[in-house]
Amino acid sequence: MYKKYVDSIHPYEPGKPIDEVQKQYRIKKVIKLASNENPLGVSRKAIDAIKKNAGLVNVYPDGGIQELKKAIAKYHKVKPAQIIVGNGSNEIIEFLIRGFVREGDCVVSSDISFLVYPLVTQVAGAEYVSVPMKNFKYDLMALSRKIDKSTKVVFIANPNNPTGTYVNGENLKNFLEDIPKSVVVCVDEAYFDFVTAKDYPNTLKLIDKYNLIVLRTFSKSYGLAGLRLGFGVANERLISYLHKIRQPFNVNHLAQVAGIAALTDKTFLKQTQKVVVDGRNYLEKQFKAMGLFYIESEANFVLVCVKTSSKKLFQALLKKGVIIRDMAAYGMNEWVRVSVGTMAENRIFIKELKSLLGK
Ligand SMILES: *Cc1c(COP(=O)(O)O)cnc(C)c1O
Repeated sequence: MYKKYVDSIHPYEPGKPIDEVQKQYRIKKVIKLASNENPLGVSRKAIDAIKKNAGLVNVYPDGGIQELKKAIAKYHKVKPAQIIVGNGSNEIIEFLIRGFVREGDCVVSSDISFLVYPLVTQVAGAEYVSVPMKNFKYDLMALSRKIDKSTKVVFIANPNNPTGTYVNGENLKNFLEDIPKSVVVCVDEAYFDFVTAKDYPNTLKLIDKYNLIVLRTFSKSYGLAGLRLGFGVANERLISYLHKIRQPFNVNHLAQVAGIAALTDKTFLKQTQKVVVDGRNYLEKQFKAMGLFYIESEANFVLVCVKTSSKKLFQALLKKGVIIRDMAAYGMNEWVRVSVGTMAENRIFIKELKSLLGK
């Protein structure tokens, strides 16, 4: 009855919750820099929309997600028919596997990337082909060499989690030209709003030319991680196919109204972008001053080598009320990933890190 390939899965480990650390170590002030959440919280407009709609949750949500799709389409200058909305963008990753991958098929991505990709691949009894990175970046040439008849989906996280590195427009276009048209390429742009690199690709312009789906999320720059809301943009043929896989009410009512409101709050988005870019620069400067090797990031986190056991450092920081991520799940035993917080949080983290590393 039990499938071996499901039984052998290592479950995804989420970032440690704040209240758990508060109870465990009996400390009041705990800061979480572990899950790349929005340090500024939630847009006021989204909160108001949630409050206004709280009394309506006895009714099923709009199964067609019409208003939200219209708002997203207008914002991103695409058609509603080119959009699918999910209970988090993670749900759309699942749709792709369910829709395109059979038992025994292959899914290709990089070896230091988002752990949800191998997870959903393994659940489907498919093989996850993870290609080594080059200087902590996706090596698209190597990825393309790994693609064969059994390959159905390729995942490219851009910027990538947990490295923060990105693939530029030219390399992405060459890759899309290079590979068979039968392969679905998923470019996961969860950290899109934090990118400052000039040669970052404009993927929405490419959706009509390739079997490409672009994923975006409300979890990071819009601060709605707890509501679960994300979407995919692709050509109409691909989107209408994915809609067949979707449950009729996969996106709840509060997420739909909060998403619409969040899109109108340009000030909140701008403030978030500023806090993230300033905080990222601050963290990178501090790491440099401490002589720690880090990877230049285009996202709202930084991956850094701490030259000591990352698991021990994680535990030591917990006791000080700072939650980060150790990279043991990737076999990177001396690396940690720290999310950009408010400037006050970043400073506390750096202070505790310095004292623990004797810097
Ligand atoms: C955070 C993150 C997401 C967001 O997932 P949601 O289900 O929308 O919360 C997607 N992809 C990557 C690579 C991420 O790091």
